[in-house]
Amino acid sequence: MNILELNGLTKQYGKLLAVNELNLQIQQGQVYGILGPNGSGKTTTLGMILDVVAPSSGDYRWFGGMSPIKARQQIGAILETPCFYPYMTAEQNLRISAHIKECSAAKISEVLKQVGLFERRKDKFKTYSLGMKQRLSIGAALLADPPVLILDEPTNGLDPEGIAEIRTLIQEIAQQGKTIILASHLLDEVQKVCTHFCILKNGNKVHEGLVNDITGTTRQIRITSQDL
Ligand code: ATP
Repeated sequence: MNILELNGLTKQYGKLLAVNELNLQIQQGQVYGILGPNGSGKTTTLGMILDVVAPSSGDYRWFGGMSPIKARQQIGAILETPCFYPYMTAEQNLRISAHIKECSAAKISEVLKQVGLFERRKDKFKTYSLGMKQRLSIGAALLADPPVLILDEPTNGLDPEGIAEIRTLIQEIAQQGKTIILASHLLDEVQKVCTHFCILKNGNKVHEGLVNDITGTTRQIRITSQDL
């Protein structure tokens, strides 16, 4: 069964065709990279599949046709710069998220360990680096143990260490069997963490395939800087 299927999904903003007849199939356990330069339609695509942007035409199906409200409960999404209470500790911030999601205190500790912030759990959020804030945000998304995680440009603005930590974390989450959809404009990011990918250009899918086909010796797919 496909976790997610897009059939001719299209979004038009006035005269601008932001996403054009996009067809995709994402299966369980895949780490699927949506790769494309700024303005190629990645965020609009994520917005449509999260039911916050209304498609102009076409449709999508989660889990073989689950209702959008039910499907949304199965998805952890990190779309923007992390937003928590600055003067509360990481643990207090997660407690608020956990309360909303009805999760236990044990789960908060488990998640803090998973995202590498357990030792810093008593520190105020405002003292965190951007990378730590992003990891806390991923932690909040993991509290309800969703089978699917959506990440929009998760390493944007981070220093090299922060980038490496987030990429390792994504790989670890993927190893737990979660399906991950990652939007990125960085080819090396997709090569490092994804199993499958497509390239969007001006709202059109111009490539799709296995990441191994980019990195493998056969180099069946050649991506040049003009693609991105
Ligand atoms: P970025 O990495 O810069 O976020 P992206 O690949 O995610 O880029 P989108 O944000 O989906 O691309 O934008 C696709 C196109 O749609 C762009 O030309 C953008 O200016 C336009 N666009 C996005 N949202 C809107 C909106 N609400 N109204 C009008 N145009 C929009």
